[in-house]
Amino acid sequence: MENIRAFIRWMMIDPRHPDIAQAQYNELKTQIPSLYALLMVNSVAVAYTHFDSAPFYLTVGMLVPMLLVTGSRLYAWIAARNIVLGPEQAIRKMRQTVVLGSLVSVIFIVWSLSLDQFGGPAERGHVALFIGITVIGCIFCLMHLPQAALAVMFIVTVPYLIYYGQQGQDVYVAISLNIFLVCLVILQVLLNGYRGFCKLVRSQAALAAKQEETQRLNAENERLAQTDALTDLPNRRYFFNKLEALVEDIEGKGLEFAVGIVDLDRFKPINDTYGHQSGDLLLTEIGQRLKSLDLADVDVCRLGGDEFGFFYLGDLSRAAGIGQTICDRISEPYRIGDLEMTVGASCGMAFFPEAGTTAHSLFDRSDYALYNAKAERRGQTTVYSASHEARIRSERAIENALQKADLDDEFQIHFQPLVSLPDRTVIGFEALARWHSPELNNVSPDKFIPIAERSGQIHRLTIALFKKAIRQIQSLPGRLLLSFNLSAHDITSQATVETLLDIIKREKIDPTLITFEITETSVIGSYEAAEKCLHTLRSAGVDLALDDFGTGYSSLGYLHRLPIDCVKVDRNFIKGFQDPMAIGVITSILNLCRSMQMRCVVEGVEDESQLALLEDLNCELIQGFFFSPALSFDEVAQSVRTGRQVAGLPLAGAAQSPALQTGAH
Ligand code: C2E
Ligand code: CA
Ligand code: CA
Repeated sequence: MENIRAFIRWMMIDPRHPDIAQAQYNELKTQIPSLYALLMVNSVAVAYTHFDSAPFYLTVGMLVPMLLVTGSRLYAWIAARNIVLGPEQAIRKMRQTVVLGSLVSVIFIVWSLSLDQFGGPAERGHVALFIGITVIGCIFCLMHLPQAALAVMFIVTVPYLIYYGQQGQDVYVAISLNIFLVCLVILQVLLNGYRGFCKLVRSQAALAAKQEETQRLNAENERLAQTDALTDLPNRRYFFNKLEALVEDIEGKGLEFAVGIVDLDRFKPINDTYGHQSGDLLLTEIGQRLKSLDLADVDVCRLGGDEFGFFYLGDLSRAAGIGQTICDRISEPYRIGDLEMTVGASCGMAFFPEAGTTAHSLFDRSDYALYNAKAERRGQTTVYSASHEARIRSERAIENALQKADLDDEFQIHFQPLVSLPDRTVIGFEALARWHSPELNNVSPDKFIPIAERSGQIHRLTIALFKKAIRQIQSLPGRLLLSFNLSAHDITSQATVETLLDIIKREKIDPTLITFEITETSVIGSYEAAEKCLHTLRSAGVDLALDDFGTGYSSLGYLHRLPIDCVKVDRNFIKGFQDPMAIGVITSILNLCRSMQMRCVVEGVEDESQLALLEDLNCELIQGFFFSPALSFDEVAQSVRTGRQVAGLPLAGAAQSPALQTGAH
């Protein structure tokens, strides 16, 4: 019973295998036209041979409507050849074919056997042949629809067998039996082929499903590879891929777009103070905020660390405003656990094609604009402009001249006296570099030091300057202190530090006479490396001074954690000495240094009233134009030799200076 039901379901084209049905239909539609063509040709032939012997209604009368029907079916199938049907339609169409095929078979077998009544043995032989070859041909054409092939075969061959069997003529019985057996064998072969076909379709479907899954996984991998795990924003790789794609797509089309880089201000101290975990949470929050901004035509990514990038594809007159919106949104306060935090953000932007026409140049220029924003307009957006271009050119000229420079010849050390109060004696000097380039004339250290840093030339410059400074101060009588400025790269490079200590040893100068000046900003970049180098210096016996105090983060944390002996108060504070707030800051720093047993130097003292105020505050060490600017070595040497004084002030041996006794060494 179950088998019969399964057979009927199969005969009606099982709808549970839509992919097989569809594949079946696609094959079928190429073969059915041949079936109808075969049917038509064979019918015409058999009607023709019977034209004289059989009645007119049986030959032409039956043939014409049959040709009309088969012809119209032939046309319909040819017309449908290029139409792709869905599985359901294909199943419906194939069911129709099974029914229609059965019907046509009935008509044809009835017609053929009716014709058999007429004519001689040759005409009857033609009928037997016509039925045999037509049914075999049709079964072949229906190989992809074995249900119809089966129906056709039985509808034709069973009456055929019975008819000839009843007539009892051995030749015709043999022919009909022969045809029947051949049909059975062919059907068997077809069914085997059909099973193979189903298997192939299924494995193709499985393969396609696998491919689809692989594609989906690939797409997911690709998405993950372009997503930042912490913030879930697109990552650096996405940013550069998109930048390159944008440049390629837009080039030559007269379109514009903007690239922006946003860098957090004061993120490093947050990381250092609250730990990396809090830093990560803060970055996640920032990522959420940037996502929720949802600005039109803006695509924000995280480039890594505390740096974000974005593209703006809208009206460029609004681009700087978009950059500012991003900075402002980032700068709103955050609540991370129990902590309330704020960070700032500065933004640099560059426009395509104005600032550059390659991904590389656009990124570089927005980075340059960011660098300028950070240096001059923190918390603001800076758009790369013609003045930046000019500055880059001049920096490049400095960089090239520096590369070629004869360091011993072109660079000199100037010495600014370090004055001890209240006795007003010179206890030492700060060494300040001076460069007279044959091409560029005098270039100020504020310009060439950062360029030497960026272009990787600072190591050899620092070493050459230090050697010269040491030799010159050594040549002066007495125990004079030498304060020497180190830059960020110097204090994070173990090699530089070792060379400096080597020079001290080789020149046989007492290391306690040497102070290296560092700034907070130079430490912050790579705190760990700097801390290690500073400890190495300190354990060799030199002093460390924190320069430009009050201008950076002025974090007390750094004073505590770093091995600092001296604080140098930035000259901007004494400049505003009439402002009670500035006096308050100087007073507090002086008190802080006393309580931490550190020396304190106030820089930039330019007039009598500033000096008087500092004397009132019991300030012990000062530098400034009031006593002297930085002097050339020849000037210093001459005045020392002639009167043991510099800039009108007597020289003191470092050992006699009471101010130095407070040092931690
Ligand atoms: P700095 O370390 O803060 O040096 C003090 C600067 O203030 C010097 O400028 C000095 O000439 C100037 N100055 C001193 N007294 C007064 C004053 O009363 N009023 C005013 N307005 N200015 C005063 P300079 O020589 O142009 O140096 C600028 C900066 O370049 C230095 O700032 C230092 O950061 C850097 N620098 C100079 N020489 C070297 C060096 O050999 N190595 C490194 N790494 N940096 C150096
Ligand atoms: Ca300094
Ligand atoms: Ca300074």
